[in-house]
Amino acid sequence: MAGNPTLEECVQLPIKEELLMEVTEKAKDWAIMHGAAMRSKTNFSADSLNFAPFLLTPSSFPRKEFEKAVALQTIINRLMHNVAHDEEFLTTTLAETIKVDEFTGNLFNIYKKVLASGFGQRLSLGILRSDLMLESRCKDLINENGNKENEKPCAYCCWKQVEINTIASGFGHLGPISRAIQSFVLSELDCAEKIKNMPDNQALAGICNGMVRAWEIYNNPKAVIMFIIEDVTYNICDQRFHEFYIREKYPHIKVVRRTLTEVHDAGKLGLEKQLVVGDLEVAVIYFRAGYEPGHYHSHKEWDARYLMESSKAIKCPSIHYHLAGTKKVQQALAQPEMLERFISDPEEIKAIGKIFTGLYSLEDNDVGNNTYEMALKEPERFVLKPQREGGGNNVYGLDIPDVLRKMSRVERSAWILMDLIKPPISKGYMIRPGGQMPPSVVDVVSELGIFGVVIGDVDNIICNYQAGHMLRTKVATANEGGVAAGLGALDSPYLVD
Ligand code: ADP
Ligand code: MG
Repeated sequence: MAGNPTLEECVQLPIKEELLMEVTEKAKDWAIMHGAAMRSKTNFSADSLNFAPFLLTPSSFPRKEFEKAVALQTIINRLMHNVAHDEEFLTTTLAETIKVDEFTGNLFNIYKKVLASGFGQRLSLGILRSDLMLESRCKDLINENGNKENEKPCAYCCWKQVEINTIASGFGHLGPISRAIQSFVLSELDCAEKIKNMPDNQALAGICNGMVRAWEIYNNPKAVIMFIIEDVTYNICDQRFHEFYIREKYPHIKVVRRTLTEVHDAGKLGLEKQLVVGDLEVAVIYFRAGYEPGHYHSHKEWDARYLMESSKAIKCPSIHYHLAGTKKVQQALAQPEMLERFISDPEEIKAIGKIFTGLYSLEDNDVGNNTYEMALKEPERFVLKPQREGGGNNVYGLDIPDVLRKMSRVERSAWILMDLIKPPISKGYMIRPGGQMPPSVVDVVSELGIFGVVIGDVDNIICNYQAGHMLRTKVATANEGGVAAGLGALDSPYLVD
């Protein structure tokens, strides 16, 4: 991260030790008592929570770039909806990948089976999250202005998409609650006037209202919303707050939680393809699990997925939405001219085209072999990604050559190569359970996620909106910043001009 430009801090750092200790203690309690919390992985008990790691004060983010990201989300929603409904595109784009990536192959088989037997439900509910980072070496600005000054790395230039999530897009609760912790802290620091620069965040309401809208469309007052969950849930607040929000605002709608195994054991289809689990008919299925191989212990869980896909329940995501969120699809979308297939407005194509950083195929052909050579030559420029979600699967920089060399040419098709984004650095206090007190100032980098909700079928989109945001921040030296994994922390943007 040496040489990355820096963003100014929201409050002057360091904070005097006595005040820092007092405010940090208070903020930790505030976090636990407002559900900014998780179950401990090292000391697990379903009966207790730790506060989730958080940044004491918000990290700066350029206002213009934030607003641009928010404004683009409904176009991204439409793009992903159209991609998900383009059978030919999904089939050709994933053709090589599914030969070597068993997990994506299994998803694809379900897709093909459902296509063959007919979709039980034409509508899909998409709850998306587009993740992005500021790119301090933005080339676009230099080209447009022809301005020498901009050739220097810049903290306020532009952002690039890291990935788009179409399944289990989390932090609908932890996003807004991070803003609440930090506004509390700013008030305690006598900086309440700064809170106005923290954008409003209604992610929880936006996401839940999407589920409720889908439930209404399904139109059976007795049917429930079912969350598909892991066997053990660590990020429990970020699921339960969704459930509790729905129950509070719409008390007539029941929410249940089931694992894939439970759906297998208790699920069946009714005469009109209704999904019945136990004695409950399911209107909407919201997947918070099912995105990684470890969630499928045996054929039972795959059978459960197929049962749900062939049912009349509205799925978030349906199988084609899940496939549209693969890294391979993102890589294909970033190729010149590809967007024209999905978006008609030239201005929108231009705007979306700019959010992609370099993404390269590693298929077994000339293009893929060139990518391979390029990765071996200058590995420090890249990150290597498989078709996985949930963090911890990518290979970075100098580790890439060894990993690539061990693969056969065919095996490489399961991966894509991506330009490493170099975000600007800011400073902050990262507060974590069991962490050092008083905390010390560390260098950090942030990743912004913008939520979007879309409902529609192959012919129409009936609902499309942007639904709040989340910010995750990690120590500047870490490759990845999963909050539960330990290097990342909750944060929220402090907009600067
Ligand atoms: P996952 O689906 O596992 O979340 P991501 O593509 O989001 O996979 O990568 C995980 C993390 O790795 C990101 O949150 C980000 O911190 C880091 N990362 C991913 N792609 C890049 C990139 N192109 N440049 C810099 N960091 C990246
Ligand atoms: Mg990610």
